[in-house]
Amino acid sequence: MLQALVYPFAESPAAGQRQVVAPGIEWLRLPLPFDFDHVNVYLLRDGAHWLLLDTGLNAASTRDIWSRVLASLPGGGAVSRVVVTHAHPDHVGLAGWLHERLGARLSMSEVEWRTLSRRDTGHAARVAAYWRRAGAPAAMVEWACARPAATHAPLPPRAAFAFLHDGDTLRIGDDAWQVLFGRGHSPAHVCLYCVERAILIAGDQLLPGISPVVGIWEGDLAGPGEAGVDGAGVVGYGGCPVAAPDADPLRGWLATLDRLEALPADVLVLPAHETPFVGVRARVQALRERHQRKFARLLDLCREPQTTFALARALYPRHLSELQTLFACAETLAHTCFLHAEGRLQHARDGAGVDVWRAVP
Ligand SMILES: [Zn+2]
Repeated sequence: MLQALVYPFAESPAAGQRQVVAPGIEWLRLPLPFDFDHVNVYLLRDGAHWLLLDTGLNAASTRDIWSRVLASLPGGGAVSRVVVTHAHPDHVGLAGWLHERLGARLSMSEVEWRTLSRRDTGHAARVAAYWRRAGAPAAMVEWACARPAATHAPLPPRAAFAFLHDGDTLRIGDDAWQVLFGRGHSPAHVCLYCVERAILIAGDQLLPGISPVVGIWEGDLAGPGEAGVDGAGVVGYGGCPVAAPDADPLRGWLATLDRLEALPADVLVLPAHETPFVGVRARVQALRERHQRKFARLLDLCREPQTTFALARALYPRHLSELQTLFACAETLAHTCFLHAEGRLQHARDGAGVDVWRAVP
């Protein structure tokens, strides 16, 4: 029997407040206007400087907090580097703004950086195609097409970035941190792991209570003239063009769970949402079981041919907002594509171009 998770900090800091979680590592909460109302970012002592890990949403309230926090940091708040775990707006939002203000180098994975540069081209056509293929009602397609894209502060040219690679060692102060790429929630999500200190900065890759969405998104569909694998040979999803059923982020997600499970059991996990915890193995196991239950349910439903939209509705039967419906569809599609690659679901497109899934008898 695996142990339950342990939360070493009884209280979470209020938005804009810093809390020390280990010598030289501070936890800062920034507000989000969503179902979950915060993102955690971390400040690490880097010699005489500070390294910032993640930046929060591109919003006036977040910029105000940063201005205040930076002015209050010991050592004058000189920043050596800003590390961004992945390209989602609550993480990368203010990277460009912080760079402009502080002159600090920016670090993230190159794949995630490229998803940011690709995002605008042909997006509207992909959105419409995504929902039509899912078999969604017209009102959903309309909502999705009218939804404004989340924006991040403008990013500096490529030369301002020092890209991180899986397996790199990052020296922060006296400590060596291994760069560990997570897959699935985003294509090359940076986690930082310090062996000596048994600390994992996990970003969205491992959260104690929330299951991060592993999805195939509107932007992931191949556009006209785009191949399934992009120019740099990266197997694409999360902004690299691959059409269902060939995209398979869930495979990368499960492989990353295997890597995380191999970490020492007592590692302190610093997540991007909720609170720091110990219990990586129990959490990995719970997440894996969640996907197994979904596979079983999908295979059962697909004894009859099903559209992605109908499957999402069946998997998440409570009332969902349009945004939640997007998450549900993206996640359902990731699961059907995984089962398709496993040879357990058949995929076809009906006369109207809608994806239809059916269990292999
Ligand atoms: Zn994320």
